[in-house]
Amino acid sequence: MLQDNIFLKIIAKQIPADILYEDERCLAFRDIKPQAPTHVLIIPRKVIATHADITAVDSELIGHLHVVAVQLAEQLQLEEGYRIVINCKDGGGQVVPHLHFHLLGGRRFAWPPG
Ligand code: AMP
Repeated sequence: MLQDNIFLKIIAKQIPADILYEDERCLAFRDIKPQAPTHVLIIPRKVIATHADITAVDSELIGHLHVVAVQLAEQLQLEEGYRIVINCKDGGGQVVPHLHFHLLGGRRFAWPPG
């Protein structure tokens, strides 16, 4: 159920997470199964199930998530570069039904992605 997903429990502090940043609009925490030396998830507090559910009212929020990603990349010393990934729906590899940015860094990334 949408209201029961693991990220909502992290937002509600019902389960622990290694939180690197939080403010009134978003949270950033380390991925429990990192796919790179640095792997952070950035999520809005607002319930938005998938990237496809973003609407014009979310423009400022989505911009804010990107600004937070840039600040985290700097803080985590990803000056060589990094990758932002948003998996959208089942076909895009999304597992948790709450919008999240993956911020990945600390290694080289191939293109095209898998
Ligand atoms: P996605 O496949 O895009 O939905 O990504 C979901 C991500 O959430 C995966 O990379 C998981 O490893 C991560 N994840 C799942 N549960 C937790 C958790 N409790 N704490 C941190 N990351 C998690």
